[in-house]
Amino acid sequence: MNPDHYCVFGNPIAHSKSPLIHATFALQTGEAIVYERRLAPLDGFVLAARSFAAEGGKGANVTVPFKLDACALATELTPRAKAAGAVNTLRFDGDAILGDNTDGAGLVADILRNAGVAIAGKRVLLLGAGGAARGVVLPLLEQGPLELFIANRTVATAAALVVQFADALAHPEQLRAGGFEQPEGVFDIVINATSASLAGDLPPVPVTVFGSQTLALDMMYGAQPTVFMDFAAQHGAQVRDGLGMLVEQAAEAFYVWRGVRPDTQDLLAQLRNAL
Ligand code: NDP
Repeated sequence: MNPDHYCVFGNPIAHSKSPLIHATFALQTGEAIVYERRLAPLDGFVLAARSFAAEGGKGANVTVPFKLDACALATELTPRAKAAGAVNTLRFDGDAILGDNTDGAGLVADILRNAGVAIAGKRVLLLGAGGAARGVVLPLLEQGPLELFIANRTVATAAALVVQFADALAHPEQLRAGGFEQPEGVFDIVINATSASLAGDLPPVPVTVFGSQTLALDMMYGAQPTVFMDFAAQHGAQVRDGLGMLVEQAAEAFYVWRGVRPDTQDLLAQLRNAL
């Protein structure tokens, strides 16, 4: 049987773990797919994506810097892609292009299943209000947290998210925004969705947000813990990086394409050992 073709678009793209992840899922589930990296020119994503679809490509993942272009390209958006305003998963069905965003579902699956931490009824602090943060707000709210506080360096950007998601709230106090110094008391879950870790920086949150039962998750990952993870651990929190989110968002994309949910545990351990 001829395999179906998928790819990941980005620029740069050489570092992407997506081909390894999807090849592993295909092997595990017996789905006949091939998956490759495609470097799109910075001003040429739409042409690259349309060419891939014309060649018979069935779907694609989309990473930096093309998630907004992918959102504009889609002829139909899922509610979570609409909420995120960004697309990381495309599915080509004839002339129709479905745009989805699996980042938030990936984060939620990693917290619930891999970390074993419930979100329902909990106090959640989200640091950052950029693309990654915006993509996780709706999936987090759907879990029914007691409170979701979005803290950002530029407070107006976080406040705009509160306005955007007002309709999705169980009660108005469920979603609040402010500066990094504003959150009060211990939070059950603290998620670093800023890009500060890339520069070895730390969002200046009060140490009182961390307690011994706090899960502190940095969306970034690498061979070493990030400064945020070190800081949170020093103040008693349980820490976690973004590798689980990466694998889970890929599993969700695989499900969007193939209708089959791969197991992620062995692959996550394998990737962790290879970091
Ligand atoms: P954006 O550029 O869209 O947003 C960056 C955010 O970080 C903004 O809120 C910005 O604040 C804030 N920020 C930047 N520098 C600092 C700093 N020095 N101190 C405090 N805040 C800062 O980036 P993304 O949202 O796309 O990505 C954020 C992170 O999430 C990256 O590390 C990325 O690698 C990671 N990520 C991980 C994924 C995974 O699967 N594990 C998936 C997607 C993203 P301001 O608004 O004030 O500029």
